[in-house]
Amino acid sequence: MAQAISKEYEGRINYPLSAIAGQEKLKLALLLNAINPQIGGALVRGERGSAKTIAVRGLSDVLPEIEVVEGCRFSCDPVNISKMCSICRDGYEKGIKLPVVRRRTRIVELPIGTTEDRVVGTLNIEKAITEGIKALDVGLLAEANRGILYVDNINLLDDHIMDVLLDSAAMGVNVVEREGVSVSHPASFILIGSMNPEEGELRPQLHDRLAFHVEVKGLASLQGRLKVMKQVMEFERDPIYFKRLYEESDKEIASKIIQAQRLLPKVAIKEDFLRIVARMCIELDVDGHRPDIIITRAAMTKAAYDGRNRVTEDDMIFASELTLGFRMRRTPFEEAALGTTRFQQVLEHAKKLEAEDKKKKRKAKSKRPKMTEKKSKASKKATTSAAKKRSSSEK
Ligand SMILES: [Zn+2]
Repeated sequence: MAQAISKEYEGRINYPLSAIAGQEKLKLALLLNAINPQIGGALVRGERGSAKTIAVRGLSDVLPEIEVVEGCRFSCDPVNISKMCSICRDGYEKGIKLPVVRRRTRIVELPIGTTEDRVVGTLNIEKAITEGIKALDVGLLAEANRGILYVDNINLLDDHIMDVLLDSAAMGVNVVEREGVSVSHPASFILIGSMNPEEGELRPQLHDRLAFHVEVKGLASLQGRLKVMKQVMEFERDPIYFKRLYEESDKEIASKIIQAQRLLPKVAIKEDFLRIVARMCIELDVDGHRPDIIITRAAMTKAAYDGRNRVTEDDMIFASELTLGFRMRRTPFEEAALGTTRFQQVLEHAKKLEAEDKKKKRKAKSKRPKMTEKKSKASKKATTSAAKKRSSSEK
């Protein structure tokens, strides 16, 4: 039995995600990204020892399994030809049945001080001319394809490497160019960065590239802190036993992720909520439309995670807080996070404007001359037949 246990936990034993006390926002920010990679990553800011890295590592044990082409160094999706490496695509197009294996979604950690070669891979130029992508000795971007790329101390990462990461994250492709020879491979991943603001800020233009901004702090309550102390000691004493204690609750999270992924395409969001989100983004003068879109995606994903196919106001508020976090900051000297009160003000103001707008529209409607019974019936008939026509032409 002892042997079976040690085999099961070969390598590092992660502190279970479900055992982390508090930090609900951080856990949800990670889980929502895992459910819906389109959200676009997260930046986790907090003092040292606030469970940032522990949470990300814990996530790796609840991530769903994916199907990959066996032996492919880029973990290609066996059914998605548009995102295959050239080797898999060639095989697919020739009608060769690609061997498939299932494995858990990966979290790849990018250490600070890493070289560009280690990130993008190294290319044997002579071989590349004849063999293409086969001549690439793959780097971390290949390993991270279809998974999560985690950078602890992202604020200390070399600027050049950061640019390489962001380009890849945006395009979903890693292009390696050496002396006029270029090869490329799929590299889409969720970028999660963590940082301790005391050790330096992130370049302001990078803030916008990570969807969620989460501020983490150590727990303030005596009970909470006691719980953390006891749990950490218990984990250090016997990690395998501790892991077992939380196995069921971790499994529950894992199955919630899978269910949420299935439910997500069916989730609906009311126009009213979209309008409130847009109003908030206008008032806060955010850059571009990305924040509005992230909030919408995140709110829908949160609904799916809770097993609902409708977005509630709470989902929308939660998603807005995570997204608007410190996007509002104008200079590095301003308050790091958008305070809760300021957020509440903006939210209340947006809701008020929306309510006033609705009232005005209702008033305008009631002032309009009423149609006669006969006329209204006739016009209704016209609309229905037009709608019918439309739907039949769509078929
Ligand atoms: Zn492949």
